[in-house]
Amino acid sequence: MAELPSYPFERLDHGVAKEVAPGIFWVRMPLPFALNHVNLWLLRDGDGWTVIDTGYNDDETRAHWETVFEATLGGRPITRLIVTHFHPDHLALAGWFVERFGCALWMTYSEWMQAHLNRLGGATADIDARLKFYAAHGIADEGALGYREKRPDFARIILPLPDAVHRMNDGDAIAIGGRAWRVITGAGHSPEHAALWCEELNVLISGDQVLPRITTNVSLQCVEPDGDPLRLYLDSLGKFRAVAPDALVLPSHDRPFHGLHDRLDALADHHAERLEAAYDACAEPRTGVELIPALFHRALDAHQMGFAIGEALSHAQYLVGEGRLAKRRDADGLIRYRHA
Ligand SMILES: [Zn+2]
Repeated sequence: MAELPSYPFERLDHGVAKEVAPGIFWVRMPLPFALNHVNLWLLRDGDGWTVIDTGYNDDETRAHWETVFEATLGGRPITRLIVTHFHPDHLALAGWFVERFGCALWMTYSEWMQAHLNRLGGATADIDARLKFYAAHGIADEGALGYREKRPDFARIILPLPDAVHRMNDGDAIAIGGRAWRVITGAGHSPEHAALWCEELNVLISGDQVLPRITTNVSLQCVEPDGDPLRLYLDSLGKFRAVAPDALVLPSHDRPFHGLHDRLDALADHHAERLEAAYDACAEPRTGVELIPALFHRALDAHQMGFAIGEALSHAQYLVGEGRLAKRRDADGLIRYRHA
């Protein structure tokens, strides 16, 4: 039985930087969502600083950053911005940092490309295509997802978006503050998410790939309708087994924690249970939306419905990949999963 993660630090106020390991400072910023905060990291790096992730693009976050700059930087500039993945809570202020400090932006190439594709209103940002995709999976009422009303407009949030990137690759060793940090890429939540592991400090910056309490959203995307993002995600989790079990883990949400390997076990168990629940539910042919009650035992608001349908489909697609479920578009135009 996996043990619950232990948290060595109390919750942090916004606008404060707390040193959680030598030269590594934790900054917590507000988010205007049900998930109401994001963690960012400030690393002492020679004559300057490396920042990891930016927070959301709003006045409140920028004001908190100003407070942190004043209190923590000691007059030294931010020389490098590393962004774990393209989601706005991690990337949205990249242009602001780059303009203000003239720092370099480091990302994996896929994440940087995905950001630009969204920013330019490409296929990954096409709301009509997304709603059509969900309709085929059983969401008849597009209002149920609240996309048109609530979904933030990527083009306006991530502004400006730096037009040059320093590419990070899986396995790269990046020197920060004279220590080597190993890049661990992962997929399933986003195309090429970058986590960073410093063996010398025994610290893992896990981004959204490993979170201590909530599970990372893993959704089938409309631009990849036959994809298997859950398999990509679970394969990625396996890469974290190489990190020391007693590492301090710095996740993007919740608090720093100990208990990485137990958490990896718990996440694997969680998805294994949900896969069985999804399989059982498909004794009768089911649309994606009909699978949601098998996986989520609580009422969901419109924002959560978007995540829930994506999650339900990622589990169904995994079972298709295993040859346990078959997927077919029926005469009524709806896509259903059934036992193979
Ligand atoms: Zn994310």
